[in-house]
This record gives sequence, structure tokens and C-alpha cells, in this order.
Amino acid sequence: ESLSSEGNKRIRWVRVNTLKISLDDLSATLLHGYKHTTSLQEISDASSDDKLYYVDAHIPNLLALPSTANLLKSTAYAQGQIILQDKASCFPAVLMGVRPGETIVDACAAPGNKTTQLAASCGDSSARVIAFEKDKLRALTLRKMVERAGAQHIVSINGGQDFLACDPESDQLRTVTGLLLDPSCSGSGIIGRDDIATVELPGSPTAVDQTHIAPSRKRKRGPSKDTASIPSQIQIQDSPDASLVEAEPIMADDLKSRLQGLAKFQLEIIKHAMSFPAATKITYSTCSIHATENEEVVFGALASGIARERGWRIWTREEQVSGIATWPRRGSQEAVEASIKAHQGYDQDPIELAEACIRCCKGTDEGTMG
Ligand code: SAM
Repeated sequence: ESLSSEGNKRIRWVRVNTLKISLDDLSATLLHGYKHTTSLQEISDASSDDKLYYVDAHIPNLLALPSTANLLKSTAYAQGQIILQDKASCFPAVLMGVRPGETIVDACAAPGNKTTQLAASCGDSSARVIAFEKDKLRALTLRKMVERAGAQHIVSINGGQDFLACDPESDQLRTVTGLLLDPSCSGSGIIGRDDIATVELPGSPTAVDQTHIAPSRKRKRGPSKDTASIPSQIQIQDSPDASLVEAEPIMADDLKSRLQGLAKFQLEIIKHAMSFPAATKITYSTCSIHATENEEVVFGALASGIARERGWRIWTREEQVSGIATWPRRGSQEAVEASIKAHQGYDQDPIELAEACIRCCKGTDEGTMG
């Protein structure tokens, strides 16, 4: 199977919010009259009359439907039973593998796709989520999404609070066992989807968010991503031939320096997470296709003093939860080798390190954003 970029756009990923409904119950309501298919291509090729759905093999409770399905007007959407979340965005919360009794921090949380996904994996266990969102307006969006998902008893929102300024030894945070880090990034992996409603944030003219909370507003075209705390305002061109891994020699100087600015901030976020006294797991994700924001940040963090002092290491592919260990697209070996060269001290095989990273590539047969 091979899906073009256009083919990718014809797929709508739908996460079943198990805090509100089970997949079985959704089959009897929203999916009543829909036929199950095991082919993503069939979803992509569906005509507007075709009622088809696909159950994802890697992410639990994730479905794909043809983008012609008008989900924004469905009762299931209005009641928070379904959340329109791209498959690529679903990996971190699954990797976190939340267990009863745990407290997980979502450090950069708005609009709340991953926060509500973490909350769903807490279910009715004793696990809890603490969500930081530095931008006050975006924190309101986050609160709205958490409420719509029925997760307010699981998630505490530290709205308007800078994760980098929090004290990991505080009463609220010293027992935190896992941190999900999904910081501001270039958004270079995002494919524009015309049918996604967006929220434009007043007072922040460039901040356009791919949340699905306010269907009344029209989507802006082109790459969109929060820019709320990006060091310099950044608008990166989403060129159709963008390669999976940046080609350093042809990267324009201003793009390079903007990516480096972002990477510096992203590295600080990981190093701060590494200082949490009871933490044993961190996930780091971006919507960027650039190694500068991905492999290079991860291996920069692992080479840092705090990582060595606290014994942080990367999860190997074998240690990843079963559905995700089978995901075929992995980190760039070239980028990992370059990072190892830049930071001495890794004795692990670069192939194994690259295998431990996960990539999604827009415009391929995976049907995801990048
Ligand atoms: N994880 C979100 C989701 O899946 O819906 C998307 C997060 S978005 C990529 C990054 C968010 O981090 C933005 O809302 C931004 O305002 C917030 N942010 C950036 N820097 C922050 C900081 N230092 N502390 C807390 N939040 C921050």
C-alpha cells in the first residue's frame, strides 16, 4: 500500500475516549451502518457515500475513517466520546504505559490531546495527571478539552505556569513518576487538513491551534502550530518535497538558526524533566521532521550532566509496549551518529539507539502526519 500526501489527507484518525465510551458501544452508535475494513488504502479511496472504518494495529482505541465523514457534527464528538487526534500524536501517551498509583506530568499540555489520552489510560485507577500550560489562553482551551473528555477528576491543570520554572521537589511534584514532553516546535511535520476546525487565540495573532474544540472557526491554510513560547516567531515552509531528515547543506541559515533556538528550549525541557526525583520515564515528541529538534535533542539530553548523574538512558525498541515495538519507522541513524560524535560517551550501538526512536513520515503509506 502506498498513500500519497493527498491520500493521507483523506484519512481522519479518531481516538475513542474510553473515559466516556467503549469501542463496542461506539460501534452500536456512531459506527452503526459502517463496515469494518483492514485496509487503510480503502479508507483513503472511499467515496463520500462509503461508510467504512479501520481499527489501528499500533494504538489502542484508535480508528481511521474517511475524512468525508462529518464527525464534527456528531453527538459522539459533542459529548467527548471521540477525539480527533492524528495517529502520530497518539504514540507518546501509549509509550508512557501509565500504571495505577502513578502521577504523570504533561509538561506542555494545550490543547490537551495527549493530556486526555493519558487521562483515558488512567481510567478508573488511582493514577493521576498534572498538566502544565504556560499560555493562559491556551490553558483555557486545555480546561475545556479536559472537561469535554470527562477527565477533570483525573487531571490537575497548572494553567499559566511555566514548566521550566516549577520546583520538582515541591509537594505536588516530588512523587511524579513519568513526564510527557511535547514542547513547541517548528511543526514542519504537519499536513494541512482543510476540514479540521481550529481555534485562533486572541492576542496571539500567529498562534493557530489544531484543536478540534471550536468547529465554528475556519482553518488557516498552510503549516500551523502553536508559537506561544517559541523563542523567535517561526514560520517554517512546509515544502512538498521536505525530506524525512533535514539536509544540512541546503538548509537556509535563518531556518537553521531558528531550529537551533527551538532545540535549545526543547533540551532545557528534557533536562528539567530529568531532575524530577521520583521520575523513571520520560517521553519526548515533536511535530517536526528535523533531526535538530528530534534525535539531536534527545541525545544531547542523554549526554548532559543531569542524565549521567541520575542514570537516564533510552528505552530500547524491545522495551517499548508491544503495539509500538512493531512500528517500523525508526530514528535516523545518520543523525544519531552525528549526535554521538558531538557528545562523547555513548557505548551503545548507534543502530540500536536509532531503533529506539520513533518517526512518522507524512505522505507515506502510514497515513500519519510527520
Ligand atoms: N501536547 C499538546 C497536545 O497533544 O494537544 C500539544 C502541545 S503544543 C506542541 C506545546 C504547548 O506547550 C503549547 O501550548 C505551549 O504554549 C506550551 N508551552 C511552551 N513552553 C512551555 C513551558 N515552558 N511550560 C509550559 N507550557 C509550555
